[in-house]
Amino acid sequence: MWVLGIDTSCDDTGVGLVRDGRVVVNLVASQVALHEAFGGVVPELASREHLKVLRPLTERALGEAGIGPEDLGLIAATRGPGLIGALLVGYTFAKGLAWALGRPFYAIHHLEAHMAAAWPEDLAPPFLALVASGGHTHLFLVEDLGRYRLLGATRDDAAGEGFDKVARLLGLGFPGGPEIERLAQEAEEKAPFPVPLKGQEGLDFSFSGLKTQAIRLLEAGWPKAAIAKGFQEAAIAHLGEVVLKAVERTGLKTLLVAGGVAANRALQARFQEAGLRVFFPPKGLSQDNGAMVALAAWRRHQRGFPPSPLSLGATPYWPLEEA
Ligand code: ATP
Ligand code: FE
Repeated sequence: MWVLGIDTSCDDTGVGLVRDGRVVVNLVASQVALHEAFGGVVPELASREHLKVLRPLTERALGEAGIGPEDLGLIAATRGPGLIGALLVGYTFAKGLAWALGRPFYAIHHLEAHMAAAWPEDLAPPFLALVASGGHTHLFLVEDLGRYRLLGATRDDAAGEGFDKVARLLGLGFPGGPEIERLAQEAEEKAPFPVPLKGQEGLDFSFSGLKTQAIRLLEAGWPKAAIAKGFQEAAIAHLGEVVLKAVERTGLKTLLVAGGVAANRALQARFQEAGLRVFFPPKGLSQDNGAMVALAAWRRHQRGFPPSPLSLGATPYWPLEEA
C-alpha cells in the first residue's frame, strides 16, 4: 500500500511516499535561503512558500514513484506542533486530497513522525526515545505506539537551537548543527565548557548556559574551531548523561535517537559506545521530511488505529502524551 506523508510544520516542505513501510521517495524543499536575510524563520513567509511549493512537489514525488494520486492508499500530514500557518497549508492540502480521493486520512504528531523515522518495524516497546531537534529536547518512555511518557525535557533552548545559536555567534551558516560538526573536526584544541545540570535530581536538559559560555570564550579570544569542538562535546556529554541516568532508572537499554541532531556523528558515536541497543534515523530522515509522517501513518494503520476525522483541525500546541 502506498502512503503519502506531508510535513509543513516549520520552514521545510516535505513530501514522502512510503510503500508497505519502505521509503520510496522523500522530497524536501528547503526554505533556508528565503529566511536567511531575517536571521530566523518568518512564519508568514514560510506559509506562503509552502503554498507555492506543495502541489508541484507532490506531483514530482508521485512522478518519481511512477504512480498517480489514485494509487495512494492512505494520506497523512503533520497536525502539530509547529507554526500554525505553516502547518495549515500541508494539513489542509492532505485532508483535501484524502477527501477528493476517498482515502483514509491520518493526522500525525510531529514528534511521533520523528520517532517513526528511527523505529525499526520489528522493534517492540518499551524503550526510551530522545527527540533532539530545532524545537525539542524531549526524553520519552515509549510504552507503545501512541503511548508516551515524558521523562524529561529542556528547561530553555533545544539542543538543535543551541547548535544554531552558537553557529550564528561564530559567523557560520544555518542550520548550525552540520556547520559546528564540520568546524569541530578541524579543531586543534578544545575550549572549556562545563557540562550542564551536573548533579541534578531529575532528567532535565539545558543548553542556554553553553551558549553564554560560547559568548565568553569568543570574547576571550578562543579560536572558533576550539569553541565549536568544546560546545559540541559538552552538549553531547550532557545528552549522554541524562539518557544514561534514565537507562539506570527504568532498566530499559534500548534507545531511539531522533530529530535533526540525531544526524550528528559524534553524538551517534557517543551512544553507540554506551552499551545500549541504539537506533538512529537513516540518512535524510533525521530532519523534517514527509516520509517520516507517512511511516508513522503506516504504523498506525497497521496497528488498527482509526483514521482521523476530517473535522479535526491543525494545532500549534500538542503534547505528545495526548496524541
Ligand atoms: P522540531 O522538530 O522540534 O519542531 P525542527 O523540525 O525545526 O524542530 P529538525 O528539522 O528535526 O528540527 O532538526 C533541525 C535541527 O537539527 C537544527 O537545529 C539543526 O542545527 C540540527 N542539526 C542538523 N544536523 C545536525 C548535526 N549534524 N549536528 C547537530 N545538530 C544538527
Ligand atoms: Fe522537526
